[in-house]
Amino acid sequence: MRFALAVFLVMLNTPLSADPARVGKNSRAWRANHEGEILTEFAELLSIPNLANDTPNIGRNAEAIRTMCEKRGLIAKLLTIEGAPPVVVADLALPNAKRTIAFYAHYDGQPVDVSQWKSEPWKPVMRDSRGSDVDWRNAKTIDPEWRFFARSAGDDKAPIIAMLAALDALRSLAVKPMVNLRFFFEGEEEAGSPHLADYLKKFPEMSHPDAWVFCDGPVHQSRRMELVFGARGTVDLELAVYGPIKGLHDGHYGNWVPNPIVRLTHLIDSMRDESGRILIKGFYDDVRKPTAIEKEALARIPNVEGDLRREFQIGTTKGNGKSLNELLMLPSLNLRGIEAGHVGVQASNTIPTEARASIDFRLVPNETPESIKPLVERHIGAQGFSIVRQTPDAAARFANAKIVKVEWGSGYPASRTPLDLPFSRELAAIMTAAGHEPVCLPTAGGSLPMDLFQQGGNAPVIAFPIANHDDNQHTANENVRLQNLWDGIEVFASFFASLDNANN
Ligand SMILES: [Zn+2]
Repeated sequence: MRFALAVFLVMLNTPLSADPARVGKNSRAWRANHEGEILTEFAELLSIPNLANDTPNIGRNAEAIRTMCEKRGLIAKLLTIEGAPPVVVADLALPNAKRTIAFYAHYDGQPVDVSQWKSEPWKPVMRDSRGSDVDWRNAKTIDPEWRFFARSAGDDKAPIIAMLAALDALRSLAVKPMVNLRFFFEGEEEAGSPHLADYLKKFPEMSHPDAWVFCDGPVHQSRRMELVFGARGTVDLELAVYGPIKGLHDGHYGNWVPNPIVRLTHLIDSMRDESGRILIKGFYDDVRKPTAIEKEALARIPNVEGDLRREFQIGTTKGNGKSLNELLMLPSLNLRGIEAGHVGVQASNTIPTEARASIDFRLVPNETPESIKPLVERHIGAQGFSIVRQTPDAAARFANAKIVKVEWGSGYPASRTPLDLPFSRELAAIMTAAGHEPVCLPTAGGSLPMDLFQQGGNAPVIAFPIANHDDNQHTANENVRLQNLWDGIEVFASFFASLDNANN
């Protein structure tokens, strides 16, 4: 009895987090009454061209987003670094909050090939599920299966709109967050985030929240919403293998002069087998084994592999029977391209002078670009190659039996947030209560510099994407399905209302 009373008193002193089920339901009702306004604001934002290198327009995007944040009572500012698009940072600070949770999205988009677009990329058009244009501004009801077509509709302006609409919903419901909310909108993600590290370093007070929610990319192919707890790292490699100094008649010299294409393909063959397993010695030594909870999450991911095989028209998959998501927990070596000689009408009976290959490795914890580079080079050396960093001169070519130019490109390590951290559990629990039980992916296959956000600390970084998986991200006719936007608003509202000060 005394114990129960003590618990009750403690509860009175701790502001109770808003019930995410109620917030989700009420924000859904709010949204249903405000769809026109939300879409009008979205259309305005989508109408501003947003290539990272289009300085005047990218600045207009940043200004527009700052104004949109200020309209919601956020303290918003543009962080700037010479020669880089601004980062828009907007804060909702609360007097008694003990935690700051940052929400990331980016407002720039991929370049466009206008000839491939059905309508202009920066003139948003609504279409129904059959692809016919819809006059949404004058429509009596708005079908959640309609899609907005414009560059960055899905990637990545939809989350910005969803977050701000969620704040509007909470205000009208008179629900106050308990944690500080920070919004961090980058303007050059699609250009490879060349200044992100500088921004995080130059503005440390903006860069160390207690946790990051990374809002980019599409939801699961099953259409269920998802949380993604990691991303693979990456590092690029260019190889050039050399033959004779000039092209030679292959009849005269065919089986006497070394052919660089054959040397290169043998080298590549030695690095990776048919199943996709990397044959470089030691490559799997640093690979972190999935934890029990990660294994359980992997087993619960809906299986969409049959659909994907049908969509991609592939007769089989690799990985010795492992599922797609199990394979994403492992490193990969992808041969991106190979260039040598000629084919078809261009083919000539020649031994070419060089052959080049472009490779990208995807890395998983605890591998790093630095840890795998020596392994790869040792392997190349063990195949009898002498490694050079510059195009070899005649003397070097004559002096070495087999010579390869090795050039490493940029890269960064993988990151993975444990699924059983309090913050991980908190996000998943809020989504579930709000009616959007997430698919939990221990890692995405692609790469995001999540580790950058952890600089100087170990704030968890978890991705919460909202766009449909078939949003034509990065290509022509990019779109977002309205139901995905609506779901995003509900979940953001639930996060903002229910993230708890006590949960550290
Ligand atoms: Zn993106």
